Amino acid sequence: MKKWKCEVCGYIHSGDASPSSCPICGAEEDCFSPFEITSEHKDPVVTGLWRCGVCNYLHSAAETPAICLVCSATGSLFAPVHALDSSVRQLDDIHRIVILGAGIAGLTAATEARQQAPHADITLVSREESLPYYRLNLTRFLAGDVEEEELYMQSRQWFEEQRIVCLSAEATSLDREQRIVHLRSGEEIGYDRLVLTNGSHPFIPPFPGATRDGVTVLRTLEDARAIQRRLAKGIQVVCIGGGLLGLETAGALSRQGAVVTVVEGFSSLLPRQLPPRAGNLLQKRLEVQGLTVFCGETVQELVGDESVRGVLLESGRRLAADLVVITAGVRPNSYLARLAGLTVHRGIVVDDRMFSSDPSVLAAGDVAEHRGTLYGIWPAGYAQGSVAGRNAAGGSAVFSGLAPSTRIKVLDIDLFSCGLIHPEDASTSMHEFGKDDVYSALFCRDGQLVGAVLYGDTSGAGTLKDIIESGRQLSEFPELADLFPQIVSLHREKASL
Ligand SMILES: Cc1cc2nc3c(=O)[nH]c(=O)nc-3n(C[C@H](O)[C@H](O)[C@H](O)COP(=O)(O)OP(=O)(O)OC[C@H]3O[C@@H](n4cnc5c(N)ncnc54)[C@H](O)[C@@H]3O)c2cc1C
Repeated sequence: MKKWKCEVCGYIHSGDASPSSCPICGAEEDCFSPFEITSEHKDPVVTGLWRCGVCNYLHSAAETPAICLVCSATGSLFAPVHALDSSVRQLDDIHRIVILGAGIAGLTAATEARQQAPHADITLVSREESLPYYRLNLTRFLAGDVEEEELYMQSRQWFEEQRIVCLSAEATSLDREQRIVHLRSGEEIGYDRLVLTNGSHPFIPPFPGATRDGVTVLRTLEDARAIQRRLAKGIQVVCIGGGLLGLETAGALSRQGAVVTVVEGFSSLLPRQLPPRAGNLLQKRLEVQGLTVFCGETVQELVGDESVRGVLLESGRRLAADLVVITAGVRPNSYLARLAGLTVHRGIVVDDRMFSSDPSVLAAGDVAEHRGTLYGIWPAGYAQGSVAGRNAAGGSAVFSGLAPSTRIKVLDIDLFSCGLIHPEDASTSMHEFGKDDVYSALFCRDGQLVGAVLYGDTSGAGTLKDIIESGRQLSEFPELADLFPQIVSLHREKASL
């Protein structure tokens, strides 16, 4: 089945066609693009070794058999085995696949492993009580747009049908020599292949008072439920962090009747995605919607008694707060892997097949570091989980990276941010257009478009993305002049180079 990625929130849809709108963020059909997850190994094939595509039986002969000796699948379903793919030849040894962490990476890994290895024992371990759910939809759940039942990705019955055991337990250590996962309950689970998909946790800066009651983060369904329990009309909430998650959380709580203030340390909102002028426009728009925003402010202390009562900023400003939500980024849960002696930089280091430094252990999702990148986004968890699950069960899939998403939706405001938007030196020029509700910025270097931002009207997003990705000269794109009549000045600049 084909896969489609929502360019706004990263939700992955399976089906012959893209959906008419995104069930997570509501983005329209044109925001979906085909999602290629993996490619197969390009290694030379092993002469005379064939794998059944249905049951994985390995057949050793010059040609494929007429039918599979194990499952009777037709010989056309056999594929050659690749030379470097030692895991395929060890397939007979893979009976027990343990997947640690039941987020999107873990669930996708379990699903793919089941398809690849119909007879293996697959156990999905999670320290969260609930079945796997759409974590990326928690802010809409907080806003009251979706019910809890709608968050779950699969039903209990589905797991039974797939013969995937969901175990609610916390892993405390890994014994790689014995191939055992130790659980907090004192029990242990043995594995032939272990997939680490234990995700990340929110970073809480060491503010004095950060442990007071009423100071929280938003990572799990339980966090969302706890926030909901405190919600009441007029409750004063301070959200620390003006990134995407912080603004989505602020908007959701505001819609529930809370009086919300956002505090951002940088001088403008969404500092990673927007130049300051666009960040300031966004701030004004949010203020019109009833939020209070302070940028360029640093938190000194979360004040109160047992419970938080307010936030003291270094400027001396004091904000009243019944609830403080911290959204200051995430850190991978790599401690188990580090303790077990796997190679860990910021995340667990994996190769293109999602194998860690131990050939029996793979990793995927927020916890994995692939080619130096910690993605920390939903589609990467999906794609890497898919590759890891397949390879854990003897497959030979490859993950070769993911282009960053360029479309953003913040509280119904459309944004597009692509390429280089924070120039590191004077060789890049920035050209800003428009004002008030519609704004755009183009970043040019050596006569090429290297970055672009659209705010309010994102209709030119596709064209700009193509031009940036092409790496060709601006003069080769006369259609840019239609989008930006002022582009003439850019051409002049290019001509003078
Ligand atoms: C509110 C919110 C909104 C988001 N919105 C978006 C968005 O719009 N677009 C986007 O691309 N991304 C978004 N993200 C990020 C995205 O959700 C994550 O990148 C993704 O969920 C990571 O998936 P994962 O499977 O790697 O890890 P996780 O989802 O973190 O799952 C890991 C699981 O492992 C479990 N675990 C950890 N340690 C242990 C242990 N020792 N024993 C047992 N279990 C353990 C955890 O409890 C957890 O259930 C959002 C995140 C949040 C919190």
